[in-house]
Amino acid sequence: MTTYSIDGLTITCEKQGADKYIKISYPFRFGKYSEIKSGNYTFQFNLNGEIKTIQGRGEGWLDASEWLKRNAGNDWTYFAAGGYTGAYDFTGEYYVPCLPYDSNGIFGHNRFTSPEVTHAFEAWHQLNAQLHAMDKTKIPGKVNEFINRVLSMGAEPLKQRAQKLHDIIGGRVSVLPPDTRHVEYDVIPLTIADGCLYNCGFCRVKTGNGFKRREKKDILDQIHQLKRFYDQDILNYNSIFLGQHDALFAGAELIEYAARQSYEILGLKNSVIKGPKLFLFGSVDAMFQADAALFEMLNRLPFETFINIGLESADPETLAQIEKPLSRKKVTRAFNQMMAINKKYNKVEISANFLYGADLPKTHMPSILELTRNQLDHFYSKGTIYFSPLEIIGSIQEVKNKFTEFKTLCRLPVYIYLIQRL
Ligand code: SF4
Repeated sequence: MTTYSIDGLTITCEKQGADKYIKISYPFRFGKYSEIKSGNYTFQFNLNGEIKTIQGRGEGWLDASEWLKRNAGNDWTYFAAGGYTGAYDFTGEYYVPCLPYDSNGIFGHNRFTSPEVTHAFEAWHQLNAQLHAMDKTKIPGKVNEFINRVLSMGAEPLKQRAQKLHDIIGGRVSVLPPDTRHVEYDVIPLTIADGCLYNCGFCRVKTGNGFKRREKKDILDQIHQLKRFYDQDILNYNSIFLGQHDALFAGAELIEYAARQSYEILGLKNSVIKGPKLFLFGSVDAMFQADAALFEMLNRLPFETFINIGLESADPETLAQIEKPLSRKKVTRAFNQMMAINKKYNKVEISANFLYGADLPKTHMPSILELTRNQLDHFYSKGTIYFSPLEIIGSIQEVKNKFTEFKTLCRLPVYIYLIQRL
């Protein structure tokens, strides 16, 4: 680690953060990064020199324990401290990601309109201008190299890089699985199949296209391009998201191929963050298609695998209203299968999504409780239930109260699903 001070800046190259993701109630950094402190701001950069986080302190900043984080899709998220508002009970995390685009969140305010956040972005642009104008002839080699990397990653190149990422995988990831919260949403996306089976009426994230597997050659090509794209910062990734909306339906052979090739070619065993994780979505019919051999294969992978299944409701009236072509019988069977798999495989966890909406039929919530309480003899820690709020009608406090009421009755962990893109 090299620290150098110049013109009011303190520059530290290659700091080492934590080597595994943990849930903690104060700001914490994972992996390797470099840092520049300037006035009241700390700017952190990934190993390619791309801005990664901005954190302020003192006057002019909202809260010393909150920060801004940029992802590979060039979206900024404001991580709001939520401990004192009970956010952990609602989300399973100590920090609530506040997004600059419309989502289904019931937490946090849009911080991106606040003057403090605007000033933080201005400070980053000023820092770039200062680095650009600086006499670098006497700066030590390593620090100089870092500054040059930062200067090569200005606003326009960052925008172009996000476009490049989306071109590689065939478009923006419209929604990440809720379980990616376990790795602070830091996943490398790899598309193994496009579209989905149901094209449900209520869904805002669907492509509208039918399900189609990618060829192995296409997947391999994406992995090689992703390796070049993530470049030096690949060391900071330990997790893969297999896209898009129903990678489970792609079948065991393609999933194993994508998982093993990405693990090897992207060098995940060399990641500075331990505990590789694989995330994917699955549909009810993908669950029925998946046999024991598929889950045994997943259990043997060098990953811990999280599969998120969209059940939405076990109530026929609700399923008809949201235009999801499923029946109570199918949803119940998929739920029971989820519980059995979670019990049997130590490295596979299946979670399920249900909808929350004040205008859904009165029979909706009891149908979920029938599965998640009445059919279970005790509390199970594996098999998280996520609630995805549809349009909020009434007060947010009302939604929270209903959620808390449900949580106390449910015999599985329950959290709110915040729809987040990449
Ligand atoms: S909820 Fe899932 S299956 Fe239904 S349209 Fe959306 S992505 Fe497709």
